[in-house]
Amino acid sequence: MTEELAPRDAYLRECSAVVIAVTGAGVVLDRTVFYPRGGGQPGDTGALAWDGGAAAVLDTVREHGEVVHVVAAGAAPPAGTVVRAAVDWERRHLLMRTHTALHVLSALVWREYGAKVTGGNMEPGQARMDFELEAMSVEFGREVEERLNAMISAPHPVSVLFLPRDEALADPDLIRTRVSLIPEHVDPIRVVDIAGLDRQADGGTHVADTTEVGRVRVVKTESKGKGNKRMRIELDAPA
Ligand SMILES: [Zn+2]
Repeated sequence: MTEELAPRDAYLRECSAVVIAVTGAGVVLDRTVFYPRGGGQPGDTGALAWDGGAAAVLDTVREHGEVVHVVAAGAAPPAGTVVRAAVDWERRHLLMRTHTALHVLSALVWREYGAKVTGGNMEPGQARMDFELEAMSVEFGREVEERLNAMISAPHPVSVLFLPRDEALADPDLIRTRVSLIPEHVDPIRVVDIAGLDRQADGGTHVADTTEVGRVRVVKTESKGKGNKRMRIELDAPA
């Protein structure tokens, strides 16, 4: 099994590793800083480099529990090769900012409007989130944008906790986000806590403080049917 470094330290940009297998899709390493697609967050891209060669990592996916670094056909280094694995940091960091922004947005809409999230999707620097809401207007979008930026621009440290399953199941904030649906063998449960704002079971990568997110714009609000309203956000380039 691969030792996954990103869940404990999202700021690691590269590591050295040994190729332990080459599958149809790509390369499995003994350790990695790459995040495999999951929980709404896209997989990392980047590069593997070794003595005498290099390959671009086009995506990272989880296959049969293994983290697979997807490379072009024929580009994989053979098992046993020592490689330098480096993520495309600019893209990853933008995903971290986007992911943290979405958690704050979900907390805001829940707290202020009592609406749960029904779905979502994120790309680097842009995302959509669907809410169990009856109505959504341009004015509502503006109001949310203002409140969201007020929350994000004040410092709120983001920390990753590994909570014993029993403790997680008893946490009222985690109950709201349906922690009980997490498969029973998962223990401890990884929790992302945005101090004073949001706490949810989550596998993704986040920035260390909300101030690192920067300014967020609500660019579109739309109805996807009764009781299902969609909001699209975009992040400003860092100042
Ligand atoms: Zn998340």
